[in-house]
Amino acid sequence: MAQIYNFSAGPAVLPASVIRQVQSELVSYKNSGMSIMEISHRSSLYTDMEAEAEKNLRKLMSIPDEYDVLFLQGGGTLQFAMVPFNLARKNKRAGFIDTGHWAQRAIEEARLVPEIKADIVASASSTNYTTLPDVPNLEKEYDYVHLTLNNTIEGTMYRELPNALNGQILVGDMSSNIMAQRYNVGDFGLIYAGAQKNIGPAGMTVVIVKHELLDDRPELPAMLSYVKQAAKHSALNTPPVFAIYVAGLVFKWLLDQGGVDEMQKRNEKKAEFLYNYLDSSRLFSAPVKKDARSITNIPFVTGNEELDQRFIVAAQENGLVNLKGHRSVGGMRASLYNAFPFEGVQKLVEFMEKFEQSVG
Ligand code: PMP
Repeated sequence: MAQIYNFSAGPAVLPASVIRQVQSELVSYKNSGMSIMEISHRSSLYTDMEAEAEKNLRKLMSIPDEYDVLFLQGGGTLQFAMVPFNLARKNKRAGFIDTGHWAQRAIEEARLVPEIKADIVASASSTNYTTLPDVPNLEKEYDYVHLTLNNTIEGTMYRELPNALNGQILVGDMSSNIMAQRYNVGDFGLIYAGAQKNIGPAGMTVVIVKHELLDDRPELPAMLSYVKQAAKHSALNTPPVFAIYVAGLVFKWLLDQGGVDEMQKRNEKKAEFLYNYLDSSRLFSAPVKKDARSITNIPFVTGNEELDQRFIVAAQENGLVNLKGHRSVGGMRASLYNAFPFEGVQKLVEFMEKFEQSVG
């Protein structure tokens, strides 16, 4: 089969060596005569695997001991509600930075939680989300301020956290750049990320939460309670065993590759290669302002919808797949997560140059 380069925003490309390892041990996990999908989550085969995955994630992200690490279900979307249920306690008010589609989904869900107020404290709507908004000094005391670190659809990314947030508890949605870019976990009260972009298969969500922020809320249904989930070590009910197993293999792969700093270096190089071309092209352009550009999700357009469509089809025929932009913004988007190879970006740029000549 011809080489395919998968630019999907998620579920997304995984390291080829991880896929091969999954294949090789699928029928009999650790010589048990059973696949990982068939073992009990109460067996040591599972608990050892889960403990190692957590240990490696802690190492990769330098997670301090006072943080709990949870492997939950429900995707980033359940966290939009679970965070306010658990953390909006004292003031019953959370602040949100509106950086686009996923931030807005988070706001909508928080507003569905009884008695909780969700204030938009800053918004990039005036630039159609091609920039990151200035955050004013916050006068109110919020239970937390929610920030989407990387905006998967719009292609913007925080390299540094906004200064004005000092003192407020920060909740970060890292669904599309966890471990693609170094952040200091200690700057956050809670971090969450669905696995299916930069970690592993869909079905598992990583939650990293400062233990002291969790006080018991006996009235919360168990599945919605961080305290109850943490007390049962993410196995309050049957956990997503297969997804955690593959994530664990990706964590090992990341450590072997040199960890998050090495990943960030490679991601910067891949992104720079594509942005340099986009900035010099007469046909294609990147709408996002330079200082806000994401290194994992790069939208681009020709300015002509029909031409965009022709490009997407032609790219697909040449093994460059899943380049269609999100339906809400159109155009194209190249997602370049950790497992996406540099040569795939070179192939894309080569193809774009040819396409540009052919229409020019
Ligand atoms: N947050 C961000 C930044 C996302 O990109 C996504 C999914 N694309 C979500 C949240 C929602 O994630 P899920 O599909 O895991 O619920």
